[in-house]
Formats: sequence, C-alpha cells, structure tokens
Amino acid sequence: MSTDEGVYAWSAVLMGSPILLKLFDNNPTLAAQVFRLIRHQENILTVNRAHSEVMAINHAAGQNAVSVSREVFDLIACAHQVSLLPDSLFNFTIGPLVKRWKIGFQGNSVPPADELNRLMALTDPHNVELDPARLSVFLRQPGMEIDLGAIAKGYIADVVRGFLRHQQVERALINLGGNVQTLGAPPHTAGWSVGLKTPFGRADELIGVIEVVGKSVVTSGVYERYFERDGRCYHHILDARSGYPLDNELLSVTVISDRSLDGDIYTTLLYGLGVEKSLSALRALPHIEAIFVTRDAEVICSSSRQFAFRLLDDRYRLITDSTA
Ligand code: ADP
Ligand code: MG
Repeated sequence: MSTDEGVYAWSAVLMGSPILLKLFDNNPTLAAQVFRLIRHQENILTVNRAHSEVMAINHAAGQNAVSVSREVFDLIACAHQVSLLPDSLFNFTIGPLVKRWKIGFQGNSVPPADELNRLMALTDPHNVELDPARLSVFLRQPGMEIDLGAIAKGYIADVVRGFLRHQQVERALINLGGNVQTLGAPPHTAGWSVGLKTPFGRADELIGVIEVVGKSVVTSGVYERYFERDGRCYHHILDARSGYPLDNELLSVTVISDRSLDGDIYTTLLYGLGVEKSLSALRALPHIEAIFVTRDAEVICSSSRQFAFRLLDDRYRLITDSTA
C-alpha cells in the first residue's frame, strides 16, 4: 500500500499481470475483498492452469457438452457472437494457436506452416454449440480450445467496478494489466489521467495522457508480449485466418468506453480492421471511441466526447478524425 495526496494504492500480480487499485479511503479490508474477487474470477476463467470452468469445456472437446455458471455462459455467448461477426479478427476458439505459439510464455520459435494449418482447422467458432437452457457449451472437434484471454481482464474490471459501486465507492481506479476501469474522478480534478505507453519504449515512457471520468480505457499493443526471430517481431494478437500474428500498420489500439468488456472486444476488432475501416465503423458507434498509434508515428483519435488526450512525445504527430 502507498499513499499520495489522499490516494491509497494497493498492488499485486495476478493473471500474469500487474494489478493496481486506487481508493480515496484507507480501506485495506475493501482492497483485500477486491483482490479476492479478481482471484476468484481468474480461477473460473483461466486457461493457463489444468482446472477452471473454461478448462472443463476444453477437456470435453469432441466428447460432451459441459454446463457452466450463468456468468461464464453469458461471457462465452458474448465471445461467440463477436467471433461470428463478418471479418472479425476476434476469435474465442483461437486457443490451439495461442498454446502452440506460446507468445508471452517463453515461446521463441515460429511453428511450421503445416502445423499451423492443422491447428487453424480447430479454430472455427461455428463449431461451438451453446445451449442457453442447460447453460452448456460443446466444442464439436477434439482438440478445440476456448481462450478468453482477450476479454477476461475487461470482464473482471467491470465486475470490480460493480462491486465497488455496490459498496458505495464513488471514486476509484482499477488497472488490470492495461485494462483501466474508473469510477468518478479524483477530488478537485477534471478526471483520471491514464498514461498511453510509448511502443517498445522504457517502462515509464509515455506518448501521451488520456483523461477520463468514470470510463474504461483499454489498450492492446503489439509491444505488450512478443518475441523476435530473424529480424521479425511476433506478437500475441494472432489471426486465426492466417495462423500468424496480425501484421498491419498498427502498434496499439486504445478504446475508451463505458464497459471495459467492450473496450477489450473493440481493441481486438479495430486492431483487425486497421485505421481507415475502424474510423468509419466508429462513426456509427457513439459510445465507443479509440486512439490508434501507427508504425509511421501517428496518433489518430476518433471522436473524443468521453476523453481528452494530451500528446507528450513530439516524435509522434497527433491527428483527429475531422469527420467525426
Ligand atoms: P493483453 O493480454 O496484452 O491485454 P489482449 O487483450 O490484446 O492482450 O489479448 C491478447 C490475448 O487474447 C492473447 O494472449 C490470447 O490469449 C488471446 N488472443 C490472441 N489473438 C486473439 C484473437 N484473434 N481473438 C481472440 N483472442 C485472441
Ligand atoms: Mg483485450
């Protein structure tokens, strides 16, 4: 625990990520409850251990349907729906590819193409059967694996926000390894300041600062987890249509939204669309706003009704979508 001008902060490492909680009360009991809640959710959703509700589904692939809790079923139903959208990069059955590449888990070799082809055949979200009456999930092919890694942190950030609201907390921030969810704003400020990291920069180096009140800020960047091989960078956002990490002009996508789950879904979807198509898709989605950082050093903001952005790094050029 540390404190600075009335802010009390607690941190831990969970889900392989640094977790930070900020409150304006010195309430270690409440902080402990929040960390317990996160650990509980992780235990249910993880695919990085032998047992969880999601792993029970994966273990039964090709054999039988598995009934899960209402919360897990609803999250899977949401992931299923997003995975079936036309041209969606988001694919919650990407597990076999994630496990093979092992990016972020000491993976450092590029799998052979024939192996990737074989695994890609196990990543068709149409081969998942959901039964809302029994709350059951069936993966039709043996070897299929659900992976909720792209949305688990956002979902849990929203669960934490719901818990804090229920406890009548009016101002707080939870950072789950890059998924930031906020309640209100710190006293006497215009909002929470959330740093946007410089891609491949030092740990504390920022391109700019995003200011929000009671919103979620989610960033997905190719520099978060990757390995280099023969001069190429292989990062953790995979494309089940090619078997390889997605390769486009983007270094990071940040989404500002009410729900952190939406932030997580849209960072992946927009990452897959690229800047031009994203900006045009976002014009029809007033509650979802985004900041793109490109390989040619541009920072591009969509509309900015729910946030303010301040550029700190003069190596980057700030562009605002003038049509938004
Ligand atoms: P981070 O963990 O850095 O916040 P993201 O939220 O971008 O990252 O999610 C990346 C994780 O999502 C990967 O580690 C993997 O578990 C999973 N994943 C990778 N590619 C996809 C994809 N195309 N669709 C859905 N999930 C993916
Ligand atoms: Mg995500």
